[in-house]
Amino acid sequence: MQNDSRINQIFEQVVRRNPGETEFHQAVKEVIESLGPVLHKHPQYAEHKIIERICEPERQIIFRVPWVDDRGEVQINRGFRVQFNSALGPYKGGLRFHPSVYLGIIKFLGFEQTFKNAITGMPIGGAKGGSDFDPKGRSDAEVMRFCQSFILELHRHLGEYTDVPAGDIGVGAREIGYLFGQYKRIVNRYESGVITGKSPQWGGALVRREATGYGCVYFVDEMLKVRDQSIDGMSCVVSGSGNVAIYAIEKLQQLGAQVVACSDSNGVIHDPHGIRLDAVKRLKEVERRRIRDYAAEHRDARYIEGGSVWDIPCQVALPCATQNELDERAARTLLANGCIAVAEGANMPSTPGAVKLFHDAGIAFGPGKAANAGGVSTSALEMQQNASRDAWTFEFTEQRLNEIMRNVHRDCYETAAEYGNSGNYVIGANIAGFIRVAEAMLAFGVI
Ligand code: NDP
Repeated sequence: MQNDSRINQIFEQVVRRNPGETEFHQAVKEVIESLGPVLHKHPQYAEHKIIERICEPERQIIFRVPWVDDRGEVQINRGFRVQFNSALGPYKGGLRFHPSVYLGIIKFLGFEQTFKNAITGMPIGGAKGGSDFDPKGRSDAEVMRFCQSFILELHRHLGEYTDVPAGDIGVGAREIGYLFGQYKRIVNRYESGVITGKSPQWGGALVRREATGYGCVYFVDEMLKVRDQSIDGMSCVVSGSGNVAIYAIEKLQQLGAQVVACSDSNGVIHDPHGIRLDAVKRLKEVERRRIRDYAAEHRDARYIEGGSVWDIPCQVALPCATQNELDERAARTLLANGCIAVAEGANMPSTPGAVKLFHDAGIAFGPGKAANAGGVSTSALEMQQNASRDAWTFEFTEQRLNEIMRNVHRDCYETAAEYGNSGNYVIGANIAGFIRVAEAMLAFGVI
């Protein structure tokens, strides 16, 4: 059978077997569309049905999460953990708490995570989990009770050699603390390596909080270097104002770029003289307020309720909020305004149409699988420190992160060139990640 028609058939089967899971379909399509030339070069992958097996999660866990709110009312949420692939190491991937969460979102994230983790070269498999619980507007006590109920069920599937979760949207330092505390109590073991993103005061790695945002900026910088350009002096916009966005802004500013806009799910802040990051950190990390409050404190800044951050002119755009937040209309606006580089801090934030426009325009485009791999890489460094009961300095850990991101960039760049698509980091990342997982799966036989 021709490789392209084989891939079409596999995709049709994925859609049939996973009805209604549109984000999962989108993520699968984007990866397997790149794999025709790989099957041509490595026919053994088709013979052993590696693509078919990779598209089917090894295990999917769905469970009830009952808890009691501050008014004494019983609340019920749904919890998920999709353990996608353990060919390269224990399952590894974050937990997302957001009302939009359903099986299709967790499967898309777990699928992406498998290839991302492979590209890092670290010994970690792919997984993702979460719940449709919305921490926004909930008291600390409510978040704690939810987390305790969530982990009471999930703990039996976790372990430092089995499955190691971390944070994602809606799961930050506070939630990781409650999850780890309850896990420790249930198993009666101080198993630091069971979860990453912990506070450095009790087993977490320095730089983990900063890692995804910093890593994304390192990746952009590498893409620009290939084009004899530098991030220094560039005008940038970043979507979101959560963990990834905040530390992307921090590194951009450290490297001399000017960040003129960021956002949350309600609106956009445009500050033409440069976003004051200390104010964003206080509002979002400490006071848990909305980004609109920034404008009340800074007269030069303008708040645009319901606006699109991509309407603000920039040279570099970093989508760091959520999936499918940058569509074709936004891509056209960015290109018309002179944008020369886009790197995805978030997972799958650009729609397929937007990605095509970026490629057609020949600008530098870094897909999330590669550009946001700094977070999970530093999680793997956290696991390494936990296993050896060691704690590295900020400088040393950041240097490791920087090396890893440069290697990720180089691997994607060289793989794209090897397969005749120079400069296409989507193809480079998909193929480099796939081959690492596929080789391990071949070695293990049919399992
Ligand atoms: P946070 O919860 O810290 O921040 C998320 C940000 O995105 C907030 O500003 C939030 O606004 C905004 N946002 C979330 N959902 C939506 C939506 N539906 N529409 C518009 N804005 C939205 O999450 P993170 O920063 O950790 O994660 C951001 C992205 O980065 C996600 O795609 C995640 O999967 C990805 N990622 C995260 C990693 C990490 O280490 N944390 C690692 C790799 C990828 P609001 O507060 O209004 O909801």
